[in-house]
Amino acid sequence: MEKGLDYRIARRRMVEEQLSSRDIQDKRILKAFLEVPRHIFVDPAIGARAYDDCSFPIGLSQTISQPYIQALMMQYLMIRPEDRVLEVGTGSGYQTAILSLLAREVYSVERLPQLSKKAGDALSKIKTGRIRLKVTDGFNGWGFYAPFDKIIVSATIPENPEVLLDQLAEKGLLIAPVSFDGECLMLFSKNDGVINRQRLSECAFVPLLKGVG
Ligand code: SAH
Repeated sequence: MEKGLDYRIARRRMVEEQLSSRDIQDKRILKAFLEVPRHIFVDPAIGARAYDDCSFPIGLSQTISQPYIQALMMQYLMIRPEDRVLEVGTGSGYQTAILSLLAREVYSVERLPQLSKKAGDALSKIKTGRIRLKVTDGFNGWGFYAPFDKIIVSATIPENPEVLLDQLAEKGLLIAPVSFDGECLMLFSKNDGVINRQRLSECAFVPLLKGVG
């Protein structure tokens, strides 16, 4: 009980100090970050520090991203309640939970079976929207459920994401950290079948790796 209160306070501080006092103004995003318990997606020893302004290791050389950068990427995507979203790189599953509160359905792919399983276990402990997880190489997206209104990639892509852009719906948006045009966040949009690219801020993510396991 006491602990639950500590976590709620930590969550409120995270939202106020790291998100709304910076440039995260989307009310639905702020509400989702207030609701989802981040501490259950990290090592229990991390405790309330899970709400700190940084990334944390989640095992197998991977990290849960800093809350601000996750919120920023989601804000650029302008996710609507009717959207179907593809997430590449489930990782801890924390961002998957947030996305599920913003969108109609979230499809999340991860190349490491151990992480996908752990994320699924954590997600089953809390209230979320509709989520489907799959272990696969995210470079290939998830063709069966395509097209997606929004695609969010949580690891740096070394080349233009052709397959993912094919799976993007008309008027859709894809955001990804890229390394082929300097290290930066890139927003791709599709209009009349034509892809536009917009360079956003600089960033540092773990790389997207080929293959499963
Ligand atoms: N959004 C996650 C971030 C995890 S880090 C979180 O908040 O926890 C990036 C994740 O992408 C890692 O789990 C890594 O294993 C995964 N990844 C890397 N290459 C991938 C690929 N080709 N396909 C799917 N997932 C991949």
